[in-house]
Amino acid sequence: QYQGLAGRSTNEVLQLYSAHGQQQKLQRRSVVTQLHGAIKRLKQDLKSLHSFALELLKDFQRQSETYLYQVLTAVQGIQLQNEAMQMFQIKALDLQQSLQEVTERYEKEKQKRRALHNSLVELRGNIRVHCRIRPLLPFDTAAGHSISQDGQRNFSEKVAYAADDETVLVKCSRPGHASINKTFQFERVYNASESQDTVFADVGPLLTSLLDGYNVCIMAYGQTGSGKTYTMLGPQLEENFAFSIEDESELGIIPRATQEVFRLISEKPPGSYWVEVSVVEVYNNEIFDLLAKDSCGKLFGVKRDVITTREGKSDVPLLTYETVENASEFLHLVNKGLQLRVRHPTLVHAHSSRSHLVVTLTITTIVSGDNFGTSWEDEQISQRLNKEVSCTFPQKMRDNKSTSSSRASSPVQLEATEKMKQVKTRLQLVDLAGSECVGMSGVTGAALRETSFINRSLSALADVLGAIAEQRPHIPYRNSKLTHLLQDSVGGDAKLLVMLCISPDQRYLTESMQSLGFGTRARQVQRGQVKKKSLPVPSKAK
Ligand code: ADP
Ligand code: MG
Repeated sequence: QYQGLAGRSTNEVLQLYSAHGQQQKLQRRSVVTQLHGAIKRLKQDLKSLHSFALELLKDFQRQSETYLYQVLTAVQGIQLQNEAMQMFQIKALDLQQSLQEVTERYEKEKQKRRALHNSLVELRGNIRVHCRIRPLLPFDTAAGHSISQDGQRNFSEKVAYAADDETVLVKCSRPGHASINKTFQFERVYNASESQDTVFADVGPLLTSLLDGYNVCIMAYGQTGSGKTYTMLGPQLEENFAFSIEDESELGIIPRATQEVFRLISEKPPGSYWVEVSVVEVYNNEIFDLLAKDSCGKLFGVKRDVITTREGKSDVPLLTYETVENASEFLHLVNKGLQLRVRHPTLVHAHSSRSHLVVTLTITTIVSGDNFGTSWEDEQISQRLNKEVSCTFPQKMRDNKSTSSSRASSPVQLEATEKMKQVKTRLQLVDLAGSECVGMSGVTGAALRETSFINRSLSALADVLGAIAEQRPHIPYRNSKLTHLLQDSVGGDAKLLVMLCISPDQRYLTESMQSLGFGTRARQVQRGQVKKKSLPVPSKAK
């Protein structure tokens, strides 16, 4: 522009120049105005940013307060919960402790009640009934053994349980049958897991009373395969041995009772007691003496008879009594006798014993006249005993072979001293034949005859108990050889314990109910207090 000014007049130049300045001024002003606007906007932005930041801060503060509050509340809640938990723990401990106390008190009360019940049993002469439920065993389901009466089932199902140590529960519901839910009370109930030891622990006290002058009888009742022989003798081996002596913990009541009797005797003055054994089998209503020997000294079962003496006692004339000096002698002898025991397998169980077995231990005690009772009752017993006691001493005593130092052990002295008397107490251990129904065990022919004899003898036993329970004047002991043989024990001259044996499987429901019914009726029999035979006062015994 300025180059074009050459040759122009000064005025023109000045005019041009001032116009240009004017323009620039205007431009500057507009730039400043623009800047001004921008700054103003910036200020406004900054202001709103500031207030936003403030808002954000406030919001943040509010939120953190809320969270803090929440955290605090949660912590407080946890603390409260902790405290409550501790309280609960304390309460639980308290409850546990009081439960323990109550349980202990209950056990004590139960023991007291049991002791009272036992005294009542003693006073009334009740028959003690214990019930043992055996475990389910492989043969319960084994092939060929599984056909039940209705021919339907071939698997085992438990229907009999020990609800507690005094109650049996039978619970069963089968389609097409009325459901059963029934309990039975007994003095003691053993469940399937209770050992031979436990069972024997309850029998032990009876043996003490044997040496205190009471007769004792323990009999196992139940169907074939329910555990009678297992309970009385122990597990049976294939080779026909009565006792498997390898495992002592498996021994049954008979060998244990013998050991205990000899243990108790060992605590008494030497020579004042001796023990004789007889082993009798009742088979098809005949009595067999399993300890009788032939001319070569070999054991063979001889038929004997049972009679009633003038004193009204049952007796087996000519029965073999062997004197034994310790438990192993006894086991050896009984083992040999038992090999003669009649066995016949049934469908229920391959080792079925088809006879009743009665092992009797007779304990003879020498009593000096001084110590022989003085009360009227003792006098009566003494007179009765004088008549009833056999006048012959066992072979050993007659031969004067005894090594004992006791004053009473010399027969010469015994005969010389009028005052010396013998008192006999008797421990009868009975393994009854199976109580099952004929249809169940699938027997025919000779075995059927056996079964009907067994059934008849067991119903005779039930009849005898029924007659005693009803206090009938005539007790039908003589209806069977079994009841005739056991007359004195069942009739009230002995502390009697019936060990009911039960198979828990549903297939045996009918026979189990029958056995439980038998036990329940037996328990109700009151025979009057069992008489004690007078024995020496311990302190006077030498
Ligand atoms: P029973 O004499 O009543 O016919 P057993 O005593 O012979 O019956 O028992 C039948 C089977 O059951 C035997 O093999 C025996 O060993 C077994 N048994 C019985 N009771 C028990 C038990 N409590 N524990 C384990 N096995 C048992
Ligand atoms: Mg048996």
